[in-house]
Amino acid sequence: MATDLRVSLTDRCNLRCSYCMPPEGLPWLPNSDVLTDDEVIRLVRVAVERLGVREVRFTGGEPLIRPGLTKIVAASAELAPRPQLSLTTNGIGLERLARPLRDAGLDRVNISLDTLDADRFERLTHRRRHHDVLAGLTAAVAAGLTPVKINAVLLRGINDDEAPALLRFALAHGYELRFIEQMPLDAQHAWDRGTMITAAEILAALQAEFTLLPDPAERGGAPAETWLIDGSTGLDGRPAKVGVIGSVTRPFCGDCDRTRLTADGQVRNCLFATEESDLRSALRDGADDDEIARRWRAAMWGKRAGHGIDDAKFLQPARPMSAIGG
Ligand code: SAM
Ligand code: SF4
Repeated sequence: MATDLRVSLTDRCNLRCSYCMPPEGLPWLPNSDVLTDDEVIRLVRVAVERLGVREVRFTGGEPLIRPGLTKIVAASAELAPRPQLSLTTNGIGLERLARPLRDAGLDRVNISLDTLDADRFERLTHRRRHHDVLAGLTAAVAAGLTPVKINAVLLRGINDDEAPALLRFALAHGYELRFIEQMPLDAQHAWDRGTMITAAEILAALQAEFTLLPDPAERGGAPAETWLIDGSTGLDGRPAKVGVIGSVTRPFCGDCDRTRLTADGQVRNCLFATEESDLRSALRDGADDDEIARRWRAAMWGKRAGHGIDDAKFLQPARPMSAIGG
């Protein structure tokens, strides 16, 4: 059964990363379709108490723009067994929210940062907010939301020359960097297998400057393959690491232990699933916890063996990443 739950708290965002959504934004979910804070809290409780979920990650869209985030984190931290609680965010607003979120029980954050250059950031995201992300990173460490991880996506001709510089930056500040291969999850359907930057290219670029050693740690269901960086240590005094999530060229579907809940209460058993299970209607029709758990389990039984991106019959899911919850 799935032990790792990703909860999307909103499909809206204050950035427009080109690999995720178009500059004009998207037709957002109507408010009445989005789960209320109490509905989210109830579904997280069912997942922890009845499905065996041990790690809950809040995402979106941009989860920091959800007003009830701190309340949802606090309620999740009270569950037994207490799940690990983390957040994937673009970092904007974290300067203010890192401390309250830590106090509410948040354990860790992943912050997305694709470039060290403010102008490139604006070209990539259509917003001039680079300084806010950097402030968010600093605030996350100060609040103890560690290890702070950085997610970076490289795009050909835009920031594909920045892999070593991003790693130098991460090492200097004690952040753990992970590169993510660009996936066909953009709303514009502009993804192109031929031009995406592959895990092999990222590793070659890093190896030109760093000596990467195989990480002896057990990978388990983690999506990132990690390497130790010879001669560098992290904030905890252990060898520093870098990760690469090769979702397209080095898929890890066989070990995936994830279940996903969209902001409008649909369960997905895979980022690339083309089917969803409607828990919101069940909730609003008065289903009890047993019934919700039964429907959730049934949705997970349908998990396919792999995403099949390289398959000629591959169909990009109708929902973009921002609406699924990355
Ligand atoms: N807004 C938050 C953020 O950007 O971290 C959380 C949601 S975002 C969808 C989660 C992660 O998905 C980010 O690290 C982002 O870079 C990544 N992402 C979005 N679209 C992607 C794509 N097409 N391929 C690979 N990663 C993608
Ligand atoms: Fe927003 Fe995250 Fe998508 Fe960028 S990747 S547009 S920050 S949801």
